[in-house]
Amino acid sequence: MSYDKNNIFAKILRKEIPCKKIFENDYVLSFYDINPQKKIHALVIPKGEYINLDDFNNRASDQEIVALSKAITEVAKILGISTDNGKGYRALTNLDDHGGQEVPHLHFHLFGGEKIGKMVE
Ligand code: 5GP
Repeated sequence: MSYDKNNIFAKILRKEIPCKKIFENDYVLSFYDINPQKKIHALVIPKGEYINLDDFNNRASDQEIVALSKAITEVAKILGISTDNGKGYRALTNLDDHGGQEVPHLHFHLFGGEKIGKMVE
């Protein structure tokens, strides 16, 4: 499968459509999900063109991988849900068809602000 440059997050990265930004650096962008599933629902995405976590781990540089991982913790701190200044949260990423992935650009969901059950549908 090749990367679809017209996916919605690619358009957000190119600023063709707006987002409610939470955090940004050279490697990562974070913004609120347009259709929140929990009290707090943020997305964290790499700026590089990666379809999903497997694609990212296969092709991304160590710098990109570290940056994405650290950004998740940074965004959780900003949102007040981290294990330092909040009560914790759930970070998850869906991969491809069986994982229920809809947007084919790697993204981590951060769910928090309330107690979350075992699975998020
Ligand atoms: P997936 O099912 O691919 O793991 O998650 C895609 C997420 O992207 C969904 O939670 C959906 O609400 C969110 N989403 C889809 N389109 C947009 C958009 O245009 N802006 C924002 N901020 N989120 C979007």
